[in-house]
Amino acid sequence: HGESLGDGITGFAGSKNAEQMSRLALMGDLRLAGQRDELRVFCQPKIDMKTGQIVGAEALIRWQHPTLGMVSPTHFIKLAEQSGLIIDLTKWMLERCFSWLQKWKHDGIRETLAINLSPHDLLSSSIVCDIGKWMEQWKICPEAVEFELTESALVEDPCAALDVLTRLKAIGVKLLLDDFGTGYASLSYLQRFPFDVIKIDQSFILPMLENADSAAIVRSTIELGHILGRHVVAEGVESEDVWRCLQEQGCDLAQGYVISKPLPIEQFQGWKAEWQAA
Ligand code: C2E
Ligand code: CA
Ligand code: CA
Ligand code: CA
Repeated sequence: HGESLGDGITGFAGSKNAEQMSRLALMGDLRLAGQRDELRVFCQPKIDMKTGQIVGAEALIRWQHPTLGMVSPTHFIKLAEQSGLIIDLTKWMLERCFSWLQKWKHDGIRETLAINLSPHDLLSSSIVCDIGKWMEQWKICPEAVEFELTESALVEDPCAALDVLTRLKAIGVKLLLDDFGTGYASLSYLQRFPFDVIKIDQSFILPMLENADSAAIVRSTIELGHILGRHVVAEGVESEDVWRCLQEQGCDLAQGYVISKPLPIEQFQGWKAEWQAA
């Protein structure tokens, strides 16, 4: 299940024109990807650093392209946003994720699944109603559902975003401020929006053992989060040394290759059983 094929797209983009052509072709393909059953849900475990328990996962979309192989969302989410197709992709993810949550609940598994929302999703007037309706249909416990939003989802229309987030919170789901520290006004958004969890961006986590500034930013973000009564997640934890350092600093949750790369959601519970046995 190759994470590695994600850069296939650059292969046929030799010049600017070729790049535009390939973008257009890719857009056309993406429109059909749903019907052609080429979209996949991968997920990456989230682990509680104090107990060592797997407490949930983040859902990450993948596109199994017929010729390019497994395409990373970094290559097509932007395209989907520009074309408005993201609304359909999000709906597809929501449905799939809710059906998995229903299955997990049926199997007695109480884990959270976090779904990424795009800026466009927050501007869609029906998003909260749709989510509420689907959660009722699939009989999903709100405690099992998390939404990850980046600052970019909030800048376009902060009032509308606040309205959507407030209504989502009223359903009982958790909200995560994703890629924390990379935007223009992270602190201000933390103050103005009802986020439960801060997710420190991997650009601070990855170099934190070599770079004193990154280390200081990570340390103070964990402290800040805790002072504000928020949980803190670190993403991009690739080594045991980084893991230990974060643990010493009281970081609540971690995600990263040191635990697992994103894997097909079908394999998640099996992976977890093996991992816990080891
Ligand atoms: P993100 O939400 O910040 O997700 C984290 C990304 O970091 C994922 O890339 C994940 O595979 C990668 N990652 C996880 N652990 C490590 C690690 O230890 N080291 C390193 N270097 N990377 C790690 P991915 O899956 O390629 O997704 C990229 C971005 O695409 C996501 O960033 C998110 O913004 C977007 N995305 C993915 N799925 C969806 C989706 O369903 N909807 C929306 N709107 N966006 C999505
Ligand atoms: Ca995310
Ligand atoms: Ca992130
Ligand atoms: Ca990111």
